[in-house]
Amino acid sequence: MLDFKLSKPTAEPEPAETFHIPEPADGIYDLIILGGGPSGMTAAIYAGRAAIKTLVLAGSMPGGQMSNTDTVENFPGFPDSVKGAELAMLFQRQAERFGARFALETVTAVDFSKRPFTIRTDMREYKARTVIVATGAVPRLMGVPGEKTFFGRGVSTCATCDAFFYRGKKVVVVGGGDSALDEGIVLTRFADQVTIIHRRDELRATKIYQERAKANPKINFMLDSVVDEVLGDKTVTGVRVRNVKTGETTVVDTDGVFVYIGMIPKTEMFKGQLELDEWGYISSDENQNTCVPGVFVSGDVQDPYYRQVVVAAGTGAIAAMEAEKFLGEYPELDGPEQLLYCPDPEK
Ligand code: NAP
Repeated sequence: MLDFKLSKPTAEPEPAETFHIPEPADGIYDLIILGGGPSGMTAAIYAGRAAIKTLVLAGSMPGGQMSNTDTVENFPGFPDSVKGAELAMLFQRQAERFGARFALETVTAVDFSKRPFTIRTDMREYKARTVIVATGAVPRLMGVPGEKTFFGRGVSTCATCDAFFYRGKKVVVVGGGDSALDEGIVLTRFADQVTIIHRRDELRATKIYQERAKANPKINFMLDSVVDEVLGDKTVTGVRVRNVKTGETTVVDTDGVFVYIGMIPKTEMFKGQLELDEWGYISSDENQNTCVPGVFVSGDVQDPYYRQVVVAAGTGAIAAMEAEKFLGEYPELDGPEQLLYCPDPEK
């Protein structure tokens, strides 16, 4: 169970004035934001303050990856750190205060070929004058035998969600980046032993995480090593690990496997409509414009490098300000023609 309590209330908050924007009479939102992570919610704060009729399609839970992050230490304004789920709630409250509406619906298809743009969810269809795509990214999986079979039965991509089940047990963490080490440290609060398995002899994680992990007596490292198979019966019992230098294979007994090997952008439904780069991230100019006028992009779905809450929030703010400018220039639905570099929808 996530703890939604404020960790450290500061001064008594001022009573907030709340603005309510009614559902659009013509059924067309000025702006629909696809995604309820920090980027989408920041865009909603900016759009709401600009009195833009805004709907956030937030998927099954607002907050995105942030909600699955135990502690956020580097978001400005929280010197004593803040729980990821708590920060998500604060973002949403702030966006709702300025009139943005939230729907817990998952986008299944879009049509960006003409304005108003059409967005289909698992529940209904919406129309919008402008759209911000902030669908984020999902954890990459190893693609080895046993991983899918035991997903949810020992294999996890969320220590914050599942660490509790490993009290007094042994777990392995796969990956050598910030996420692997950060979540590995979280797991030591519960598990007796955490083995970090990384494919190279050098960790990718920043120095502060490396120092903390190396100083933690519950953490040990298997470097130059990859997981070839997840083993188990009803639940996970071990992993088959291969040393990539010697070729030697060993079975490591474990109760849980936490996979932190990077992310995949959620862009499948935009193929053929927006320009994607070779890794599947949405391409945009420096003002968050995609190749379709009136469709903007922000957050991790367009950011293979930084993937930070503060950066996602920043690009969300830019996208919302650009959407505001666009709505001012093209208030009617006969906006500009598509730019030439959009993909050919026939292909
Ligand atoms: P990442 O930095 O891309 O690291 C991914 C790790 O997984 C790398 O060590 C990589 O190995 C390994 N890997 C990739 N594919 C693999 C495969 N098929 N099999 C085995 N290992 C594989 O991803 P991340 O750790 O999720 O971090 C993402 C971003 O979020 C980063 O910018 C990071 O700084 C940020 N982040 C920040 C915080 C924080 O500041 N609080 C916390 C977590 C994450 P190689 O090194 O060999 O490529």
